[in-house]
Amino acid sequence: MSSSVPAGAMAPVSSTTEEVVAELRRRSSFMFVSHVKPDGDTLGAGLALGLALKSLGKRVGYFQQDPVPRNLRFLPDTDLVTRDVPADLPADTLWVFCDMSDFSRAGEFLPALERENMLDVDHHLGNSHFGALNYVIPSEASTGTCVLRLLHALDVPITPEIATCILTTIMTDTGAFMHTNTTAAVLRMSAEMVELGADKPRITEEIFANKRFAATKLLGMALERAVIEDEGRYCWTYVDEKMLLAVNADGEDTEEIVQHLRAVEGVEAAALFKDYEGAVRVSLRSSGKINVQAAAATLGGGGHFMASGLTFEGNLQAAIEAVHAALRAQGL
Ligand code: AMP
Ligand code: MN
Ligand code: MN
Repeated sequence: MSSSVPAGAMAPVSSTTEEVVAELRRRSSFMFVSHVKPDGDTLGAGLALGLALKSLGKRVGYFQQDPVPRNLRFLPDTDLVTRDVPADLPADTLWVFCDMSDFSRAGEFLPALERENMLDVDHHLGNSHFGALNYVIPSEASTGTCVLRLLHALDVPITPEIATCILTTIMTDTGAFMHTNTTAAVLRMSAEMVELGADKPRITEEIFANKRFAATKLLGMALERAVIEDEGRYCWTYVDEKMLLAVNADGEDTEEIVQHLRAVEGVEAAALFKDYEGAVRVSLRSSGKINVQAAAATLGGGGHFMASGLTFEGNLQAAIEAVHAALRAQGL
């Protein structure tokens, strides 16, 4: 196995496709782990690789701290996703972490694990390379497209179910082909998935056109409270417990709010402050000039150049001030 370089001047080196595939072939059992507040990438990537490994006769399970969001339950095998860890896991079980820049993104309920039994598959900037093997490719649009490289190298058949999972990861992380990570290669891979039977109309319907009415009401409340600053370059708003209660919404209903802020003419950076469930979580988006991953990283978060997030230690007002300062430090 390759060793990772300590954090410092040099970016750590990713494991090769051959190293990862050899490890996948060697092990008999796998537990896939998705990040807290799961999205279509963390879940779709694990489900796709899990389905492929099952076709090779391997044992596959899924660990996820939070429940499967309503709009992802159409994906195959989501009924296998739980917070429980099976008591009879074989000793050679490999824990595969999908779409997380650090181990801590898995939450608080994982059992103690040996590093040698951890594989990290991801595309975030600043990934901490916490596994013994780290298949980390920041130039990939989704963790699912990293998985697709592994599927090709494993030479397993890509079934319509697997293709649907991979296309879900792409559509989630490109905002349905809207974001700048929608390269020619991504469109080619997407075409390949559709040719293999991916159900694109279903993905579009379930993920992008199946909002609860409460989400639409909440969007209205959040947009009413939106603030524009820095001569129109920064737009932000918040959602708190009272607003959720007023329209009977929950955290899953906040997802698209920040993209409306970013879409305002002249806006370079957008922020949504989510002040509920005992913490202030922040979603940041860039229009291409401000590195919001770097801004989030200074406050203990992470993500990508154009989309990042963090959990703030402190109250809403302090979060608003700290994030503003962090964005200004990145050139806002
Ligand atoms: P979100 O705004 O929740 O859609 O997240 C945008 C991006 O930021 C995703 O790539 C997340 O993985 C990442 N992200 C969100 N929250 C955190 C956090 N607390 N720590 C590290 N990365 C995060
Ligand atoms: Mn994700
Ligand atoms: Mn992702």
